Amino acid sequence: MTRTLLTARWVIGYEDGAHVVHEHGAVLIEGDRVAYVGPVPATDAQRIDYGEAILSPGFVDLDALSDLDTTILGFDNFPGWKKGRVWPDSYLERGPYEMYSPEELAFQKRFAFAELIRNGITTALPIASLFYREWSETVAEFDAAADAAEALGLRVYLGPAYRTGGQVVDATGTIRAVYDEARGLTGLEDAAAFAARIDGRAGGRIRAMFAPDRIETCTKALLRRTAALAGEMGAPVRQHCLQSETELGLVRDQHGCTPIEYLAREGALGPLWLLPHGTHATGADFETIRDAGASLVHCPLVSARHGGFLRSLPRCLSMGLTVGMGTDTWPPDMILNMALGVTMARIADGPESVRSEALFDAATLGGARALGRDDLGRLVPGAKADIAVIDLSAALQTPDPVQTLLTSCSGRDVRDVWIDGRRVMRDREIPGVDTASDRSRAQAQFDRLIAQYPERTLGHPPLSEIFVPSYRRRTHDRHRS
Ligand SMILES: [Zn+2]
Repeated sequence: MTRTLLTARWVIGYEDGAHVVHEHGAVLIEGDRVAYVGPVPATDAQRIDYGEAILSPGFVDLDALSDLDTTILGFDNFPGWKKGRVWPDSYLERGPYEMYSPEELAFQKRFAFAELIRNGITTALPIASLFYREWSETVAEFDAAADAAEALGLRVYLGPAYRTGGQVVDATGTIRAVYDEARGLTGLEDAAAFAARIDGRAGGRIRAMFAPDRIETCTKALLRRTAALAGEMGAPVRQHCLQSETELGLVRDQHGCTPIEYLAREGALGPLWLLPHGTHATGADFETIRDAGASLVHCPLVSARHGGFLRSLPRCLSMGLTVGMGTDTWPPDMILNMALGVTMARIADGPESVRSEALFDAATLGGARALGRDDLGRLVPGAKADIAVIDLSAALQTPDPVQTLLTSCSGRDVRDVWIDGRRVMRDREIPGVDTASDRSRAQAQFDRLIAQYPERTLGHPPLSEIFVPSYRRRTHDRHRS
């Protein structure tokens, strides 16, 4: 069995149910597990000394960005329904189509997985947009995603998103739900067959999950069948809900209740149910989530970019609700999300309402608890050796490494990543990944997608009207001398 000793100025270990900071500490890895955490021991194991760095449990990303993120196109371009983020009737009538080829779909997953690793994320539950899809995600791209996760060494929970319906907008700007229940139920059965086939692959690093799309277009039959199949397998279910006024309105009109009441009523809420984003929850909704043993997935960056925030993280934590974290948008930077999560909680509840460790706990222990995994999110003997090494050479250090992390670091400071005891990133290089070539390929693919936006935007305006430039543009011939 391979034995490796990692040492650094700071090691975030775990004792008696909480993280503990070791200054000048060590982690001994044996095989895929942590064997020891504490002061540097006398050992014949191979030693890697990271110096001024933090050895942190790898981050658990419950809403892990897994495509070339189209939400950044809406950063200054709103409302979304006028900017290609809700299908117009005319696009639906002409027949929605896949805007990426199967190869492009496979590539973007592999590209995104590498970016997650770069940001110190060691466990990922992928999320992607369905706006550019013919309908939902495919088993083929998830087979490719499983291959990519296996090759890169990422720990993943995989399941193609499926849906019984979607939203369309008419010329007056009215958004309504449209359904194709048979297609959604077929998607669910395909997802269940995929789940049974891949669960436990790569020595257990690849697990199954279920990913029904957003709540406002999930039919009762879809929710009940999802709950039954996921329950049989013991697999997590991620159900987006409580994330917009439009969603609340559509659920109220169709079911006469809040999204959480709808889920609870259909028996579709319980342990292993992961709920992004909770920004539109009532106090009663939070209590229902807690009492069901379900978990909230907090994604501060994407919420803040849309002017939303959780009200509030301190309140959810003091109620005893399990809160994990998700990146959900570009960049998939968990450190940025933790830092913003602190800011957001202070805006919601006052400057002394929260400390850094609440967000650090959510990104590690909270995510692990949401998945029912006591071997993840902590560095303790017996836990999986999933470790992010954050280099502090560019940081202005405070006396505390977690406070340094949230005030002075970003995902780009992650230097090495270990998953399942394997060094999957070394000095920012991921074996088998040609970063420069992949980044230019990703940009070209994204540019081709952007060029297709007029086809699925209300009124089919030109690109310059969908994506309004910041300043007047002067474009020049790059070859002119
Ligand atoms: Zn999300």
